[in-house]
Amino acid sequence: MAIARHRIGIDGTGVHTLVCFPGCPLSCRFCINPETTWPEDRFPRYSSEELLEKVKVDDLYFQATGGGITFGGGEPALRADFIVRFRALCDWKIDLETALNVPPGKVGTLMEVVDHFFIDIKDMDPEVYRSYTGKDNALVLENLHILASRADDCTLRLPLIPGYNTDAHRDRSEAVLREMGFTQFDRFNYKTDIRDGKRKTNL
Ligand code: SF4
Repeated sequence: MAIARHRIGIDGTGVHTLVCFPGCPLSCRFCINPETTWPEDRFPRYSSEELLEKVKVDDLYFQATGGGITFGGGEPALRADFIVRFRALCDWKIDLETALNVPPGKVGTLMEVVDHFFIDIKDMDPEVYRSYTGKDNALVLENLHILASRADDCTLRLPLIPGYNTDAHRDRSEAVLREMGFTQFDRFNYKTDIRDGKRKTNL
């Protein structure tokens, strides 16, 4: 688990602490957090109580700004049970950054405890999605239908991914998602360049 404090205007309203879990079912070509694919034993492990002890140093910031904890990764939705246990220990805002490619039961569990979902859609076109992530997006679609009942609590991220999708793809993705009831979108561009023979990605 990796912890980043004092994040403002990135992971939700107010001051947030980002808590990242290792492990992700996807293999995005331009992964923004490649270290989350490292072996789990390279990260500190905390129980929910131990995590509370680590993050409560910023309690005053959270309370004064309406901030709290954002769980990210990797894929934090796979750690739904941990997040439920943590929720029971505090009343700060809890946000989740997820790609939603997880079993629907996890999403149902998280809907009980998460205040806001930031959903990394990639692209709604199944072929674009598969070629960029190495997986199909059937679970994403299923989970979006479940989350549509909480559409007001969801921000959907639609990246322009060089070499994989176009603005026309993004327009189609947004139209499909609006049809499902979602209204809050974050459109941005991946910026890629080549350094040391490797392609790096920045948001
Ligand atoms: S979903 Fe996120 S963490 Fe997982 S491979 Fe894609 S960019 Fe990396």
